[in-house]
Amino acid sequence: MEHLPSLAGLPLQEIETLLSPLPRFRASQIYKWIVRGVSDFSQMTDIPHSLRQEFASRFSLYSSVIDSFHEDRQAKKAVIKLKDGLKIEAVLLNDGKKRLTACLSTQAGCPADCVFCKTGSLGFARDLCAEEIAEQFLFLRNAAADTLGDEHIRDNHIIENIVVMGMGEPLLNLAQLRMAAAFFTDPDGMNFSKRRITVSTCGICGGLFDIAENGPFIRLALSLTTADEPLRQKLMPITAANPLKKVKEALALFQKKGGGRVTLEAVLLGGVNTRGKDALSIAEFAKGLDTVVNIIPWNPADGLEFEGKPLREPDREEIEKFIGLLESKGLKVTKRLRKGRGVNGACGQLGCLRS
Ligand code: SF4
Repeated sequence: MEHLPSLAGLPLQEIETLLSPLPRFRASQIYKWIVRGVSDFSQMTDIPHSLRQEFASRFSLYSSVIDSFHEDRQAKKAVIKLKDGLKIEAVLLNDGKKRLTACLSTQAGCPADCVFCKTGSLGFARDLCAEEIAEQFLFLRNAAADTLGDEHIRDNHIIENIVVMGMGEPLLNLAQLRMAAAFFTDPDGMNFSKRRITVSTCGICGGLFDIAENGPFIRLALSLTTADEPLRQKLMPITAANPLKKVKEALALFQKKGGGRVTLEAVLLGGVNTRGKDALSIAEFAKGLDTVVNIIPWNPADGLEFEGKPLREPDREEIEKFIGLLESKGLKVTKRLRKGRGVNGACGQLGCLRS
């Protein structure tokens, strides 16, 4: 099947080029409608009917389509079919106070192979392009507007936060992530604050130094899990090529150049990284950095094991002891609520690629 070039997620200048020699204001009109979340050229009512028809014959608005939605009380997971048939997932999280967060993917699958993550177990298919990242947000925003009522579609900020914590390692796809971030933060478009975008990485040194030097100064979260390096190498094999000493140097540079507080995420795996030694290693890693530690009790995903034993959730006692130890070292600690588990949309559970 032939795919028409898609326009959603492109910068205005690129739409101008694609529409040339039409006057530039036509591109601005289309861009504005994309930002408002229309699903069709026919809804662009300030463009003459014949021109809308011509656009529809030359372009599509989106390159991907919604395959299905899965919903529980706190999350709505979208399974999205890309133009090459691959499937990815994006999740709309709801904190119960009508504050919505969009969790976006940057790759189909993931090459990082963290042992506790369903996505990692799928292997890697390909990087997403910037438009495919942006489209996830637009789809989730429309889904949110559908839930809350039509008038919200015009409210750009119906979703308060974007977290890039879905499928894939964002810093292994940095160029496309940057373009998607530019689309989200364009003051003449989505106008999303950089401070409301958080990118979570397993610690890719090259990407971290690049962001520290060249921006964007979005918020960063490091999926640390443990700073006991030998254990981390087993849990997160990318550690071997990205030693924590270098990761810390990059984070320090990011903060020195104007980046804000970094979140250190610790996915707690019962009986694996809940030792006192792991908490103390995190406290040591955090020294000299402005951080908050976010404790994420592992969300079960079928078939994942470590050293021949199935992974398990940490029990309450393990979690409390771990948090207590971190706090005794003066660290600020938060615990992430287990949102999205009912739809397998919680952290580490995203697992759809070719099904
Ligand atoms: S935790 Fe993140 S980086 Fe690690 S395998 Fe899963 S998606 Fe990839």
